[in-house]
Amino acid sequence: MRTATGAGGMAANGSTLLAELIDALRCLPGVGAKSAQRMAFHLLERDREGARALAAKLHEAADRIGNCRLCRTFSEAEVCVLCASSTRDSQLLCVVETPVDQMAIEQATGYRGRYFVLLGRLSPLDGLGPQELGLEALAGRLAEGEVRELIVATNPTVEGEATAYYIAQLARRAGVRASRLAHGVPLGGELEFVDRGTLAHAFGQRHDV
Ligand SMILES: [Zn+2]
Repeated sequence: MRTATGAGGMAANGSTLLAELIDALRCLPGVGAKSAQRMAFHLLERDREGARALAAKLHEAADRIGNCRLCRTFSEAEVCVLCASSTRDSQLLCVVETPVDQMAIEQATGYRGRYFVLLGRLSPLDGLGPQELGLEALAGRLAEGEVRELIVATNPTVEGEATAYYIAQLARRAGVRASRLAHGVPLGGELEFVDRGTLAHAFGQRHDV
């Protein structure tokens, strides 16, 4: 068990609950023992109301936010707002790795099509294969015949490229044109961290794959 507080999981002042809180905070990405301790002390010393609100919201979100049945993005409803919208072009389907990437494209580009969110990228070492990424559902969607262009917006990392290649093969088998974002997105980069102008340009200049 990870513990920020040394032997026996007891905090310096003897509170086991405090030690457990610090340990629980370490489930957040990038939060080590020191930061977790700082967060716990801040909440207890200065913001108990905030702590209660945070706890309630985390609880509610963990219980109520699921995944859209069609595109797999986070959604409280069975079908998300974007999939339910009648104003989106259902001939365009953009594949992204994460809901954060989807949000980046929504904010940076004028894209009006629909999305498919992989919730990861092909990574056999992490146990992420075609099944975990919902690629069967994607193939089924392509087979329906409504999608005319599949925009593969996975990240330009080694795994993202391998995923894009796999998806392009799916598109080819279904007779659907597949395109990939153009240069400007740095190799090894993540869409989330690319500035809006660059992302908008790369999106606009996508090419067939
Ligand atoms: Zn959806």
